[in-house]
Amino acid sequence: DVLISQIAAGEVIERPASALRELLDNAIDAGARAITVRLEQGGMGYVQVEDDGCGIPAEELPLALLRHATSKIADLDELHHAAHLGFRGEALAAMAAVAEIEIISRRAGHDGARIQASAGQLGPVQPTAAQPGTRVTLRQLFFNLPARRKFLKSPQTEYAWCADVFKRAAIAHPHLALRLWHDGQLKLQFDRDPSPHGLDRLAAVLGESFSAHALPLTAQIGPLTVRGLVCKPTAARARADVQHIIVNNRWVRDRTVAHGVRAAYADVLHGALQPQYALLIDLPSELVDVNVHPAKSEVRFRDSSAVHQAVRHAVEKVLARAVG
Ligand code: ADP
Ligand code: MG
Repeated sequence: DVLISQIAAGEVIERPASALRELLDNAIDAGARAITVRLEQGGMGYVQVEDDGCGIPAEELPLALLRHATSKIADLDELHHAAHLGFRGEALAAMAAVAEIEIISRRAGHDGARIQASAGQLGPVQPTAAQPGTRVTLRQLFFNLPARRKFLKSPQTEYAWCADVFKRAAIAHPHLALRLWHDGQLKLQFDRDPSPHGLDRLAAVLGESFSAHALPLTAQIGPLTVRGLVCKPTAARARADVQHIIVNNRWVRDRTVAHGVRAAYADVLHGALQPQYALLIDLPSELVDVNVHPAKSEVRFRDSSAVHQAVRHAVEKVLARAVG
């Protein structure tokens, strides 16, 4: 039903950046090794994500645009340890309800196909030439919901949010090659980071201004791997703009980890200064619940005090070595 799907869509897709995040998640879930993002007018003109992943079989294209259609979960039990980024089958349906969407896809060994939908109306599946993989283009977000379209900010602001989403994906997936185009200009490009620890990618995304004042960290504490870059105490700021937490390849907000880091700095930082850091935390999937937040931006640790301690300990060790 069109109204219900428009309401539901508003919760999933708020702006171009949230559409971009969902499209990137899908590309990553599809096993992409390279992803190209093209935006026009901060994504308000269009958001396009092209991947070289597994593709969608032609006969499944309409299904991909239906609510609660997901190919990623076989049963409820699996929902709880979903390693995939998507698992609710809502994102593409939500986009189809509030924009014009086109999917062109090809599975290796099959013919390419295309489907288009607009304001919830699906068109026919048509054969088309295509590279293996998938290209989704979202045009005119909220064209049928003028009140929501009015909520969007300037193209520059929407672009900045999209670029943040893109950078978070780049940090969380160092082995992916990623490009971001905006209004016909190549804005960001990250080659595949061949290093096993992913710290080169971190440095590339966060830039010289951060990494020149950062300390590398890699630690294994019980079942937990903690890697990342943490700032030298002298690089702490009143307002820290670099605070990234990635858990099992998801960029998340997490108080346990954030507090663990702050606790480690507490003795060396004076006043209300904030540490800057980017931490990649990996742990077995049964020790973390990823299915707690609709935007998938939070996780729940089975044993959060163990995670807190491990993070605090790992960061303290690096700081102690640096301070001497
Ligand atoms: P979810 O990701 O939660 O399954 P989505 O609405 O985001 O739901 O996507 C619906 C389905 O469409 C996915 O389960 C997947 O089968 C297919 N799909 C979407 N994007 C891609 C892609 N880039 N490559 C391959 N399959 C895709
Ligand atoms: Mg998805």
